[in-house]
Amino acid sequence: MTLAFDEPRIQEVVGALSRKMLINGEWVDAASGKTFDSINPATEEVLASVAHGEAEDADRAVRAAREAFEEGSPWRKMPHGQRGKVLHKLGDLILEHLEEFALLESLDNGKPYAVAKAADVPLAADLFHYMSGWTTKIEGNTIPVSAWDPDAYLAFTLREPTGVAAQIIPWNFPLLMAAWKVGPALAAGCTVVLKPAEQTPLSALLLGELAMRAGVPAGVFNIVTGFGDAGAALASHPDVDKVAFTGSTEVGREIVKAAAGNLKKVTLELGGKSPNVVYADADVDKAIAGSAHAIFFNQGECCVAGSRLYVEESIYDQVVEGVAEQARTIQVGNGLDPNTTMGPLVSQEQFDRVTGYIGSGKDDGAGVIGGDRVGDRGYFVAPTILTGTKEDMKAVQEEIFGPVVAAAPFNAEKDILPVANNTNYGLGAGVFTRDISKAFRTARRLRAGTVWVNTWNVFDATLPFGGYKESGWGREMGHAVFNNYMETKTVITDLS
Ligand code: ADP
Repeated sequence: MTLAFDEPRIQEVVGALSRKMLINGEWVDAASGKTFDSINPATEEVLASVAHGEAEDADRAVRAAREAFEEGSPWRKMPHGQRGKVLHKLGDLILEHLEEFALLESLDNGKPYAVAKAADVPLAADLFHYMSGWTTKIEGNTIPVSAWDPDAYLAFTLREPTGVAAQIIPWNFPLLMAAWKVGPALAAGCTVVLKPAEQTPLSALLLGELAMRAGVPAGVFNIVTGFGDAGAALASHPDVDKVAFTGSTEVGREIVKAAAGNLKKVTLELGGKSPNVVYADADVDKAIAGSAHAIFFNQGECCVAGSRLYVEESIYDQVVEGVAEQARTIQVGNGLDPNTTMGPLVSQEQFDRVTGYIGSGKDDGAGVIGGDRVGDRGYFVAPTILTGTKEDMKAVQEEIFGPVVAAAPFNAEKDILPVANNTNYGLGAGVFTRDISKAFRTARRLRAGTVWVNTWNVFDATLPFGGYKESGWGREMGHAVFNNYMETKTVITDLS
């Protein structure tokens, strides 16, 4: 196997990174002096040793972010147009470092280098470019009063940044999740403490370095590398105004409780168990390719993975066989091998979890296509289809977060909608059909924050993203995201 990068180049890129945390514009060790290892999931070897931030470090970072948010600080005085230029520059710098970012994502998360290069990194850059335009376009309103003499009062609204934002992110799209969080917060004029996932801290550190280079003032963007306890310290910190979290629904509930002390604003982007409804009148080739992509993209480590595949009976066998055929063409391997189209799962824990669910599906009577470990080193699992699944199976009800789809047939449109919505989650959903009325009828009835029609996994900086039900609170991206990072102040003046 020839990898796209040789060892000296890997060492050069990983070694060029500061392994320290970014607090108040400086790269610092953890207060305790401790470090932790980030593991390469393809080799199970230590990739880098990173500062182990804990509550004391979280507190230091929050204090820096608070000071940077004070009236009269360089950030608060920076003209909005200049703030936009800084964010645009950061987008440019991400693209200039496309190769390094894609390499770090592949090494740290496992995903194929080519995927990170084509998707994660350009989308992160695009997010900053898009958000940079908003700094000069967020406006309040002038509002005529209704119960009073219209000439007696002048009322208008001001939009103001919420303050210090703590942002806690997962490991599946390390750079892109950082961009989704940091981009809008900075565009709104907030200051930030970011806590990357312990499995994948490296690309966030490079982002921090580039943010400084782009002209983000000291203390505006801080990074605390560490585990859940560091995240919990941020979520409960009395001087944090807002917490934004992406991760498991279980931890989401903890965040809500932790945030209750000072009632900080909370937005959550949590788990999913997205239904994919394929009608018999679909373009079958497109439905097969879309359904395979829906579940196998990014090793299935996507909160919106199309993990429940419902196919109208007359084409069920054909679609399942087609998805199985696509699964057989997937090359599972080291993300740096140019032939690889699916990397390893991120960690031993995730490997155990995913294989556990495959086992439970089998025990509950589902058919299993794939399902095996690949190789004996690294956390590789074959793309897997559980067939003929029943609604009460654990593998159908719970989020697996791996390349495992549960497939079942259905009879008619009226039958499938209650089944598709039979989940506590509501993040993504999809429908494949050539009938546009049926497509939109289905899209309206699916209780999910994003519905894809004849496609899957299309994300864009302009499009709001978030969940119904237990998949979260609030929307990220698009201009909807500014509700998360801005307050609205109403000013009423007596004109007499
Ligand atoms: P996953 O289960 O996919 O690993 P988690 O929800 O456990 O996702 O983790 C997502 C992020 O939340 C990570 O950055 C992790 O360190 C952080 N985290 C874990 N537990 C807590 C907690 N109790 N409070 C705040 N953050 C946490």
